[in-house]
Amino acid sequence: MDYDLRGRALVPGFVDQHCHGGGGNTFITTDPAEAYRAAQLHLHHGTTSLMGSLVTGSKQALIAQIQTLSPLVDQGVLVGIHLEGPWISKLHCGAHDLVQLRAPEASEVGELLAVGGGRIKMVTIAPELPGAIPAIHQIIRAGAVAAVGHTDADYEMAQIAIAEGATVATHLSNAMRPLHHRDPGAIGALMEDPRVTVELIADGIHVHPAVLRLVRNEAGNGRIALITDAMGAAGAPDGRYLLGELEVDVVDGVARLVEGGAIAGSTLTLDWALRYIVLQGGIPLEQAIEMLSANPARTLGLDDRGSIAPGKRADLVVLGPGLEVEAVMVLGDWVHSTE
Ligand SMILES: [Zn+2]
Repeated sequence: MDYDLRGRALVPGFVDQHCHGGGGNTFITTDPAEAYRAAQLHLHHGTTSLMGSLVTGSKQALIAQIQTLSPLVDQGVLVGIHLEGPWISKLHCGAHDLVQLRAPEASEVGELLAVGGGRIKMVTIAPELPGAIPAIHQIIRAGAVAAVGHTDADYEMAQIAIAEGATVATHLSNAMRPLHHRDPGAIGALMEDPRVTVELIADGIHVHPAVLRLVRNEAGNGRIALITDAMGAAGAPDGRYLLGELEVDVVDGVARLVEGGAIAGSTLTLDWALRYIVLQGGIPLEQAIEMLSANPARTLGLDDRGSIAPGKRADLVVLGPGLEVEAVMVLGDWVHSTE
């Protein structure tokens, strides 16, 4: 297929390092066909490298879900599996099942990492939990990225986690002890350390636009990874959904827990986030694309993608005049076109 790029932009495929589902489907499943459909939804919105994020669950449930997603990682449908929980804070559990939260024990951490067989690429952990620092070492030894998130850690505790090898802030400022001028907490430590990539959910709901600007001014464009943290309702109608075991109502695209009303993941796709930060946030397209592609690719150690350059994978997205996705290429093959 020839493509006339006049009036259009050709950008590297998006890399979403934190995503739970889309199109009415979720990765928190034992049905590989459902997980595949979720990945397809995001692919059609320009995400050519996608992480399958799980949420807190029992050990047995997580093992079954990891085994379900593993073949999709081998096929390249997903770039890896992300364990967001169960080793996170009860004080900042967001949309995670409170009764399943627990401290990391070396045996369970080791077992889940072993079931993943190198396919678990990221684990979100609250560093203040007993056993969390040794768990961070286990996670890194298994080839995964340790992410600080869903945490009540103070500034010093977060600094220790970073010194011990944590390199990601899971949706910075969401599900963390708030930043206070005498108690900057994990947010302060994660935002200022040059070794850390900070995730942000740029949907205009999870983070105020002013905070987005503040983080960008402090951390710099090169340290931000825009994520969707999408649940099944991304690219799907409003209604009632499940996030793990918990019920979520989506009204006007905003997902909240039925019980308690906490914000529960987003209904974003990364092309929507791109339009939001460029068209409403005024961030130049080149810098926005960095946050959607190069930065998360580098964070995950995916050296073969994230930019358009000789030797890199031909994962490309054609954007129309309004930054809408017109076509998507993976490894040199067009996999989606709106024509
Ligand atoms: Zn999440």
